Amino acid sequence: QAVVTLKDVDVEFHGKTRSVHAVDHVNLTVNRGDIYGIVGYSGAGKSTLVRTINLLQRPTSGSVNVLGQDMLALSAAQLRKERKRIGMIFQHFNLMNSRTIADNVAFPLKGIKSKQEIKKKVAELLDLVGLTDRANSYPAQLSGGQKQRVGIARALASDPEILISDEATSALDPKTTSSILDLLKSLNERLGLTIVLITHQMEAVKQICNRVAVMDAGAIIERGDLLQVFSNPKQQLTKDFIDTTLQLDQAIESVLQQPAVKNLGPNDRLLRLTYVGVSADQPLVAKLFESYQVTANILFGDIQILQDTPFGNLIVVLSGDQAQVDAGIQYLKQQDVKIEDILKKEA
Ligand code: ADP
Repeated sequence: QAVVTLKDVDVEFHGKTRSVHAVDHVNLTVNRGDIYGIVGYSGAGKSTLVRTINLLQRPTSGSVNVLGQDMLALSAAQLRKERKRIGMIFQHFNLMNSRTIADNVAFPLKGIKSKQEIKKKVAELLDLVGLTDRANSYPAQLSGGQKQRVGIARALASDPEILISDEATSALDPKTTSSILDLLKSLNERLGLTIVLITHQMEAVKQICNRVAVMDAGAIIERGDLLQVFSNPKQQLTKDFIDTTLQLDQAIESVLQQPAVKNLGPNDRLLRLTYVGVSADQPLVAKLFESYQVTANILFGDIQILQDTPFGNLIVVLSGDQAQVDAGIQYLKQQDVKIEDILKKEA
């Protein structure tokens, strides 16, 4: 049973100097109970496409049917109501930092339910995401993974039937990513929640999706059941995405076997850097390399770039004395990269 049907959806942005054809005549059907992965490079049009589902983005042309409603025919009041059936979670969590966790989760229910009902619902939701004991904490006191659990609880407050996840794990380390994906999968199984998962991480798709669509330049260039697409990818881009997932696992494995890495000193850090949230106009890897060449000698002492991929994943070793390594980390934190420790030797 289809819960989302996009027909010939087109989105164009007209700027002063240029126009962008962000979504190019896309058809998409998501069935009830699907975990549908939408993958593609940054700038491929994934967010824009998926935002047409709840009309956060109005299509230039085409039709959007969600849960049996023609979304483009709804009045503003009807649309507000309909949007409650579509939850959303984001890369940067979008929590209110001055409110407690319980207040953040309660927010969508304010003015709709009684105080008593809200209290009960919030307790249920926090239990569902495993954060009962953090109800009175503030976002700043939580880890990234916990913040995303709050984001999920809040998104589920209005009992949506569909959950849109827009790069919700892109700012998290691999282990936390995996546990958030497991949570989404269990919500899918326990609540029958349909999930549309935007990601540039094929690993995420592999972990929980049953269907996948690959986007490039605003179009879906390949789609199908997960196993079908993984076992028999037709497009080069799809192959690249799948290969890179494997290559990256292998690269990390092989890096860990290198003598230089085996002999890391107590201060040394082996990091995986991933570029996230950059627009397609910026050549990802080139920009990173450029920053290294400018600064590597100054800051890093000894830096090795061991592997790069089309996705902007780089594995680097930072070594030197504690101050040099700290300065290197500081520098990287100011860049548009996500930093994950692959290996940190205990001193
Ligand atoms: P993805 O989610 O795959 O990274 P997006 O949907 O965010 O891609 O962007 C697709 C294209 O549309 C990009 O070229 C982006 O710069 C452009 N774009 C997205 N949102 C806007 C906007 N509000 N105004 C102008 N251009 C936009």
